[in-house]
Amino acid sequence: MTDPAHKPFLPTSEAAGSLAADTGQPDGSAPARNTPERSNRMQVFAKAEAFTVPRDLRAAGLYPYFQRIEESRDTEVVIDGQKKIMIGSNNYMGLTHDPRILEAAKAALLKYGSGNTGSRFLNGNLDLHDQLEEDLADWVGKPAALVFSTGYQTNLGTIGALIGRTDTIFLDKLDHACIQDGARLGWGEIKRFRHAELDQLERQLAKTDPERGKLIVVDGVYSMEGDIVDLPRIVELRRQYGAGILIDDAHSLGILGETGAGTAEHFGLADEVDLITGTFSKSLASIGGFVAGDEIVIDFLRNQARALMFSASMPPSAVATVIEAVRIIRSEPERRERLWENTHRMMRGLRGLGFDLGATETPVVPILVGDMTKTFKIWRALFDAGVFTNPVVPPAVPPSQCRLRTSLMATHTAEQIDLALDAFGRLGKALGVI
Ligand code: PMP
Repeated sequence: MTDPAHKPFLPTSEAAGSLAADTGQPDGSAPARNTPERSNRMQVFAKAEAFTVPRDLRAAGLYPYFQRIEESRDTEVVIDGQKKIMIGSNNYMGLTHDPRILEAAKAALLKYGSGNTGSRFLNGNLDLHDQLEEDLADWVGKPAALVFSTGYQTNLGTIGALIGRTDTIFLDKLDHACIQDGARLGWGEIKRFRHAELDQLERQLAKTDPERGKLIVVDGVYSMEGDIVDLPRIVELRRQYGAGILIDDAHSLGILGETGAGTAEHFGLADEVDLITGTFSKSLASIGGFVAGDEIVIDFLRNQARALMFSASMPPSAVATVIEAVRIIRSEPERRERLWENTHRMMRGLRGLGFDLGATETPVVPILVGDMTKTFKIWRALFDAGVFTNPVVPPAVPPSQCRLRTSLMATHTAEQIDLALDAFGRLGKALGVI
């Protein structure tokens, strides 16, 4: 079999083109009439035929995605009857199985039903959604907040609605996909700077017409790197160039700041950040997302963000979960302390074994491997040894920077971390990663 690592992750246009010229008949015989419509349709679907990487990986026993979890117990899952220590989730606070959360979700399910069958704009707005918005605004220190059904939709809807023809949006190249997609949905100009290279951002700002509206969008913590954005420098640029700032706190909520309110709180700069977006699918143990900012901007988004207006609202049990999760995180700082203790134990252990963790400084702990096949091999070996991690390959990272992404939880025990470290040490040596 061809080594999947030496195949392009995306199909080439030539491959798609040659298939497009195929006959389209199951037996390969010439079609009665090869109309232009027929070959155009073939061209659309030929990409799927040409995209062999998942099939090649499955054949090699190395396909790592869509693992079927049969049981989930916080820091442990069962797959194919085998227990695995979960160090590949985003469940930083370990709240998905907290009995108080489960009770809150159950009570909302019984009171309001299983779903809202419509968008908040029309029939799907509950008192619970409004309460959650008040709680979130209060937590992150902004006058108002707006809740969407996913974090992805939050950035898509917010950025798509705000960036008009006379605006320029400035993106870190490693900003999350939903930020990049939101910028594509807006009508404005897009400028991208290399990850964390704020001198380049400054040059781009300086070269942009002073008359244009400007919005800088960054992640608070980068999801595949684990580094924290240099917010003080970005705030300086905001002052100097009159730009707005949107910070995506998906991986910072619960983790950074004295009360877990995220990156702006961590740096004491909440007043200098215009918009904070976040997701409920990580520390907040559910699904959904929000944007927080000034009332007038939030009200504009409430009535203009298409991803909110044309999509059904978060279900009652999910909203109740997040209300309870916010309450627990704000009142139990010891959870955050445990998360940081676990993070430091894991980082110390991995670095001690000789792994390269890049620039991480948070519970997102990547293990840089480099080559794609090697990454899939160590993923597989760890998986078989009972340790669940995530292999990250192009297009999520450049081809030479394939990695395993691990992440810590407040509820991991020291024994679980040490067991994972033991497997990393043994298998990392066996496979030549360390
Ligand atoms: N922003 C960032 C930085 C993320 O990592 C993610 C999820 N991976 C999202 C937004 C989207 O969140 P959700 O899962 O709620 O759609």
